[in-house]
Amino acid sequence: MNKKNTKKESTENSNGMEKIVSLCKRRGFVFPGSEIYGGLAGTYDWGHFGVALKNNIKQSWWKKFVDARRDMYGIDAAILMNGKVWEATGHVANFADPLDGKQFNTMLKTEVGAGEEAAISYLRPETAQGMFVNFKNTVDAFHPKLPFGMAQIGKAFRNEIAPRDFLFRQREFEQMEIEYFVRSETWEKYFEYWRGEMLGWMEEVGINMGKVHELEVLKEDRAHYSSRTVDFYFDFPFGNKELFGLAYRADFDLKTHKLEYTDEEEGGKMVPHVIEPTFGVDRAVLAVLLSAYMEDEKDGEIRSYLKLKPNIAPVICAVSPLLKNKPELVEYANTKVYAPLKEEFGRVAWDDNGNIGKRYRRQDEIGTPFCIVVDFDTLSDDTVTVRDRDTGGQERVKVSELTRFIKNKI
Ligand code: ATP
Repeated sequence: MNKKNTKKESTENSNGMEKIVSLCKRRGFVFPGSEIYGGLAGTYDWGHFGVALKNNIKQSWWKKFVDARRDMYGIDAAILMNGKVWEATGHVANFADPLDGKQFNTMLKTEVGAGEEAAISYLRPETAQGMFVNFKNTVDAFHPKLPFGMAQIGKAFRNEIAPRDFLFRQREFEQMEIEYFVRSETWEKYFEYWRGEMLGWMEEVGINMGKVHELEVLKEDRAHYSSRTVDFYFDFPFGNKELFGLAYRADFDLKTHKLEYTDEEEGGKMVPHVIEPTFGVDRAVLAVLLSAYMEDEKDGEIRSYLKLKPNIAPVICAVSPLLKNKPELVEYANTKVYAPLKEEFGRVAWDDNGNIGKRYRRQDEIGTPFCIVVDFDTLSDDTVTVRDRDTGGQERVKVSELTRFIKNKI
């Protein structure tokens, strides 16, 4: 690519990022952390729609990788762990980035306990160790047969030297990780299997697969525990960067913690090998938002909208009375449409501000797939208009059919 093209592309791309950051703040998805006190670099606070979007993404992950499977055990381990964990894993010695020629350890150090009792610990830099240290507890409690996995969603902290690019590189973020325990001779088969599962989930949440690239990480670039790593990269506006990773950690972690498994099928003790699919929640949210952001022309105006999948969108549908100063419309919309939908789906909005066109634009901007309008015909025939976010097309649906209509789209 020649220089001129590169420049043009970077201008367009940085605009893409600015639009998402501004939309996220304006519409209550993501706010800069501690903003009224000047902020705290590398932290963000999630607003009402952001929490909903993030929860939907996490739920879709948990449903696919835990609830729908018979070989996965969920866990929610403490963020604070005995400092010895991080010494044993090599994090105290090695979890560092170069700063001015020296190695700077990026674990966030803290003290646990008071006075002489105080012990140095760290806010965990990855969720993985919370699973390994509970390997024995899980095996003793559930007696799983190989292969089986442990899964966890939770916060991780890294004192990044240069937090940047919005949600991409923060000091406090969230991970969704799986440790999948296999017999050593089968690791290649399961590595391939998890590669496919990861790609499948990315597609399910609406990540633009045309922007996802796999990168085989070379030996010299791999983490000290990994025998093979494939990173999934995404074309972010600020460059082609790591989204998620898949590592073959062999028996590094279980051996480190002196853990083993009694193999009832083959007899005797052994140390299973581990395949680790790891997903950053925040990078997932960012990739989903960037994939969903669209602009088109409607009624001679540019409209921007989020083409989010209905199961991921923060609001599944918005309900509006055509006119807010007509009590009969408001009453009908509120009691016969909004209340039952709200009870069924929770993430339902009431919107009666401004004219209908404005309400549609507002809902489009946050990615609401359906806008339901109660008008004068509704009062006589018990049907409402359901307007589709992507096509702008409208259809009349019976009020008694609405819940099923929406359910079928999720
Ligand atoms: P990078 O090379 O970008 O620093 P990493 O290789 O150190 O990432 P891992 O240790 O593999 O990342 O962490 C697993 C996942 O956690 C990453 O794939 C990413 O999605 C997420 N992640 C890591 N660091 C951050 C961060 N500072 N902010 C947000 N998400 C992060």
